Amino acid sequence: MNRRDLCIAMAASAVLPALTTRAVANVAVAGGTLTTVSDGNLVLPPAFVLSELTDAEKAEVASRYGFGEGSYEPPCNLTLFRKGDMTVLFDAGSGGEFMPSAGSLLDSLDAAGVSPEDVTHVLFTHAHPDHLWGIIDDFEDLVFANAEYRIGRAEWDYWTRPETVDEIGAERQAFAVGAARRLAMLEDRIDFFDDGDEVLPGIAAVATVGHTPGHMSFDIVGDGGGVFVTGDAIANPHISFGWPGWKLGSDQDPGTAAATRVALFDRLVAEDRTVAGFHLPGGGIGRVAADGDGYRFDAAE
Ligand SMILES: [Zn+2]
Repeated sequence: MNRRDLCIAMAASAVLPALTTRAVANVAVAGGTLTTVSDGNLVLPPAFVLSELTDAEKAEVASRYGFGEGSYEPPCNLTLFRKGDMTVLFDAGSGGEFMPSAGSLLDSLDAAGVSPEDVTHVLFTHAHPDHLWGIIDDFEDLVFANAEYRIGRAEWDYWTRPETVDEIGAERQAFAVGAARRLAMLEDRIDFFDDGDEVLPGIAAVATVGHTPGHMSFDIVGDGGGVFVTGDAIANPHISFGWPGWKLGSDQDPGTAAATRVALFDRLVAEDRTVAGFHLPGGGIGRVAADGDGYRFDAAE
């Protein structure tokens, strides 16, 4: 039993909140197998998302989706793509330090028949806690010990510059401290990419900035249309789809993120793409369909 196994055994014997642990059915795509693996969910005040809206807009959201009361508990779905000798994980989950409701990734990977040591590549969409903090365990060791790590160059630059922690604002200061600390641990084993780069064979980076300054989506291309991994470019299943041009408080640059989202929806519908969305319902795999003045997400399951 290594230290991580011990950790998992200790965690399993403690009284913990019920975490969502599951691997959604495998989907054959682009000559490989795509699986979404759950890392549990976040628990957020709706105001975190709604803060940029007027009272009238908030009322519209509440009447259409019932969104705005209680807590907002979006799922966290990581995308796992296996093809040939590649086992690629898109983002790394929350780990044990962010929220008690998140951090169940390793159990879900296990359910999918994947051990952390099997992961060959970790590709980051961005460096928010629910996407990055899971790279280390409770002993501060790297969880995916054999993996190569890749992140967009602009995203790396933003979170590793010393000014960010002072400029980001009180609400996200812990995000900046946590990101800088973890990215420093990856410094010797991470590579960078830019918009349009082929990050791995058949996987291209698509800049989708606004949620964070260097946010990236990934286009897995190949037979059958492939899959577009959106990250948090489309994160909220209510407002993002119903009113794609509206600003979300959960985006760091709400105006830029809204423009990115409008363009991305256009593309996904025009190309009739299958989407894997980190915080979208039903395991996060589905299609975007035009619906009235906005869009809707048709989950595959
Ligand atoms: Zn997120």
